[in-house]
Amino acid sequence: MSAFRIEVRMKLALITGASAGIGAATAAELAGLGYSLLLVARRKERLSILQDQLQTSYPNLQVWTESLDITNHGAVVDFFKKYEPQLKSLELLLNNAGLAKGADKVQDGLWADWDVMIETNVKGLLSVTRQALPFLLANKKGHIVNIGSVAGRWIYPGGAVYCASKFAVRALTEGLRMDLLGKNIRVTNIEPGMVHTEFSRVRFSDQTKADQVYAGMKPLTAADIAETIAWVVSRPSHVNIQELVIYPTDQASVRDVSRTE
Ligand code: NAP
Repeated sequence: MSAFRIEVRMKLALITGASAGIGAATAAELAGLGYSLLLVARRKERLSILQDQLQTSYPNLQVWTESLDITNHGAVVDFFKKYEPQLKSLELLLNNAGLAKGADKVQDGLWADWDVMIETNVKGLLSVTRQALPFLLANKKGHIVNIGSVAGRWIYPGGAVYCASKFAVRALTEGLRMDLLGKNIRVTNIEPGMVHTEFSRVRFSDQTKADQVYAGMKPLTAADIAETIAWVVSRPSHVNIQELVIYPTDQASVRDVSRTE
């Protein structure tokens, strides 16, 4: 009797900012689609808990986690060297790690807040993308999904620098799409409105202020965005959802939110 060996090639997704919110929720969705996962963020303990949960639910998949601060370019370069064997199977990069800090008017703004937003949302995304691209190009296929924001399209008072960083994400997404044309690599910008995650707590360093952001309205959940990303990446490979704006029903624009008293 002849023995058949069926080789199932691993498809790997790299997710930045997988320790919370949209990144963690998307890890679970992508595992459901059969992706093995390389999950990074600064908080290793959070990643380890998620890793255990995913390995229990999806024993056939591989899940690696690594503490990585994407603002540290040297650490990003070392990370890509360390995981080179796994990254040979890279098919999807989810550039999700990001944050807002403060909501001051520009005339009152803090340099430290601006610095961390630009370092993370713009330079961190670029650093990871630059290191990931040789692997996607070598595979002659792939998908880069950037998490932008409605703040990358419309500006609100006190949001100038965060908005500027997300405008940059939109520009980088469009530029990447042009530079990668003909290389069979899809590039998508997901632009959510208000999503109830740790985002506002990080922004204000204050739970009460964070709760006020979502008071009396129904925001999106991380799972809503994760499901959308799963839909985007599972379109046939000739279909590229270039950009997607997703607001909660209770939000009409960056400045209009319906709240019950
Ligand atoms: P979140 O719950 O605070 O999650 C942010 C994630 O980014 C965390 O896993 C955090 O992990 C990671 N991160 C932050 N700085 C990092 C760094 N230097 N290096 C590596 N990882 C870093 O917020 P979220 O809402 O899920 O945010 C995810 C993305 O969605 C962000 O890009 C955000 O701008 C965008 N977004 C959010 C909303 C919203 O309303 N929530 C709306 C539109 C867009 P560690 O702290 O463990 O490093």
